[in-house]
Amino acid sequence: TDQEKTIQDLDAKHHLHPFMPHPDIARKGARVITRAEGCYIYDDSGHKILDAMAGLWTTQIGTGREEMVQTAAEAMRQLSYYNTFFYTTHPNVARLAEKIAEKTPGDISKIHFASSGSEAVDTAYKLVKYYWNLKGQPQRKQFIARENAYHGSTAVAASLCGLSGMHEKYDLPIDGIHHVGPAPHYYNNGGEMTEDAFRDHCVQAIEDKILEIGPDNVAAFIGEPIQGAGGLIIPPEGYWTKVEALCRKYGILLWCDEVITGWGRTGKWFGSEYYGVTPDIITMAKGLTSGYQPLSAVALGGDIAETISQEEGEMVHGFTYSGHPVATAVGLKNIEIMEREGLIDTPDQDEKISYFSEQLSLLNDHPLVGETRTLGLLGAIELVKDKTTRARYSDEENVGFICREHCFDSGLVMRSVGNTMILCPPLVITTEQIDELIAKAREALDKTYSQVSG
Ligand code: PMP
Repeated sequence: TDQEKTIQDLDAKHHLHPFMPHPDIARKGARVITRAEGCYIYDDSGHKILDAMAGLWTTQIGTGREEMVQTAAEAMRQLSYYNTFFYTTHPNVARLAEKIAEKTPGDISKIHFASSGSEAVDTAYKLVKYYWNLKGQPQRKQFIARENAYHGSTAVAASLCGLSGMHEKYDLPIDGIHHVGPAPHYYNNGGEMTEDAFRDHCVQAIEDKILEIGPDNVAAFIGEPIQGAGGLIIPPEGYWTKVEALCRKYGILLWCDEVITGWGRTGKWFGSEYYGVTPDIITMAKGLTSGYQPLSAVALGGDIAETISQEEGEMVHGFTYSGHPVATAVGLKNIEIMEREGLIDTPDQDEKISYFSEQLSLLNDHPLVGETRTLGLLGAIELVKDKTTRARYSDEENVGFICREHCFDSGLVMRSVGNTMILCPPLVITTEQIDELIAKAREALDKTYSQVSG
């Protein structure tokens, strides 16, 4: 219709998108998404699409929930905005900080709020530096991150990323950030090694980097418990225990970036809890509000929490929206719903997680599928040209992208990262919707296969 054209034309003319697709797709214009309900999004022609990416790893409780709308509206009516700069607070900030401290593993006790995951990451980076300065060890300036990491888009967060394309054109990374490889991706990087040997090889690479930099110069190690945007990389068993032991051995802060793995993704409240590690720092966003409001947090435990909070004077760090009253109200309600509906760490949810894993593994018989893997409600499908040699399609062949577009056309959102298809359904997905997801994924795989296999 004329109106559709108008939106697409306006968008094409004035909206600078974060990612541009292949020119053939760009020519068709951006998809116009107009509403969402539960696990589905709808475009402007009424096409109903199962959102198996939960927005962008975000909507744990599903979208459009009236209770959330009411909560936001009431919070806005009562106190649409006030700051936390004048040693001021409000009930939702204090209560949500307490709730986060309660749900995070270990002795997390201090929470600082921001709006986006990237802001939380930048904040944590600064607080680590602040901490080491307060401790009289200002030489601890070096950060160790990993290949395939994603930590955000601001200059510091992008510097911590270990993904090609994020640095070169932006004159990044900033100094003092080191990326260690290989990423703990057994299927891609394991070669002839056993999984245990591969795990030890990955951990050894981190220790080698620590020794190369000099242990007393290392400020923190940052890692996503499961690498998300870098390809849904689930580390081998025992990996995180060993990484934590390394950090303790050298007195390095352990920072888990749980922007994706936090709030129920792994089946536990936090990914670090799932892996049995107790980070000094946890960054979180996304699932904290299920995307109903932009809200993120940096959670501190142990000595860094104590040292920073005992320091007199101001931290001299914060944002206009640190502890936004509407966002924190929405965060609290989101957590209340997840608790009430038993969406995290309950037998019912564990059963759903097992079902998701079983059903996804059925796709392994497809000629295009080299591996499927899941942990909690996170899943990946590796697309291969040859199942036995694990040969991949080239970047030019664009197979992941082709598959993503077929998914969209079949009414399913899956994300593609290179040759990897990624799934992150809302925690409220039902078993029937999981069946729908698998059926549509198979349909898209079939179409992709007949297109790419000539
Ligand atoms: N850290 C991780 C692990 C993420 O996955 C993301 C976003 N995908 C971020 C940080 C950045 O969050 P935001 O996009 O809200 O800035």
